[in-house]
Amino acid sequence: MPSTVVILGTGGTIAGTASNPADNVGYTAAQRSVADLLAAVPALRGQAIEAEQVAQLDSKDMDHATWQQLAQRAAFHLARAEVCGVVVTHGTDTMEETAWFLQRVLAPAKPLVLTGAMRPATALQTDGPQNLLDAVTVAREAGACGVVVVFAGQVHAAQDVRKVHSYRLDAFSSGDAGPIARVEEGRLRRHRTWPVGTPLGLARIAFEPASWPRVEIVSSHAGAGGAMVDALVAGGAHGLVVAATGNGSLHNALEPALRRAATAGVPVLRCTRCAGGALVGVSDAMLPAAATLSPWQARIELMLSLLAGGG
Ligand code: ASP
Repeated sequence: MPSTVVILGTGGTIAGTASNPADNVGYTAAQRSVADLLAAVPALRGQAIEAEQVAQLDSKDMDHATWQQLAQRAAFHLARAEVCGVVVTHGTDTMEETAWFLQRVLAPAKPLVLTGAMRPATALQTDGPQNLLDAVTVAREAGACGVVVVFAGQVHAAQDVRKVHSYRLDAFSSGDAGPIARVEEGRLRRHRTWPVGTPLGLARIAFEPASWPRVEIVSSHAGAGGAMVDALVAGGAHGLVVAATGNGSLHNALEPALRRAATAGVPVLRCTRCAGGALVGVSDAMLPAAATLSPWQARIELMLSLLAGGG
């Protein structure tokens, strides 16, 4: 039975420090190494765990080069016979984007678990150590698979997870779908099945990240117009995602510009800007619809689809 868990560090608040332990917001992210984070969890001592620093950044600054490297390192470790699962420590700001990217590229048969913290490592109420412990529990769970986010005692599928709060410790939600499971005192209480999918594969992203297609997000809103879309197309955008109102509706003054972009060969993907729900009964006739994806997931989807053309 494989029993080693590999923890890949990328930074974030979980690795952040502040000079004042009572300061929950005035900290600097990505200061502590992943080895330090591991050492701060006594319950993990003596377990078969390896730690590797892949990056050290505030995830608001996440970039495609780091995604490429992270996917490659995660795939390498997941393929090792002795490894049962991989944990990624990550900032919360873009955790849902990294989770979806990894799920689409790797859709791993073993668990690939992202976790982080809403309080820095120095805080009075730091949540990082418990989240890390829970993430390792999920990485060791027999039968677990796919990319999941473990946070505040809940296990979320990459497809469903959204950061829904800027400050609370339980900052993530799976919306209508609900969490896959809860982690309680080192045991999982399961609610539904693990996420499965068909991986696009590392070959899809084996291009110089600087040359990956540029996909930009625009939104429909009161007072919207087409000038932003026209400027993006003129500026060389390769694809556009439109965060539409409600069930995919678009402002009259915006829609013609999006159609012009599509006609000019810049694909446009439509999704809802609502925090919950999907596009229901919406046809692709107006513009292709990404039924269940958030604007940020749709951006990844379109970029990966354009990468099939060679980056
Ligand atoms: N800005 C931080 C980050 O995303 C926030 C966090 O980790 O909670 O890296």
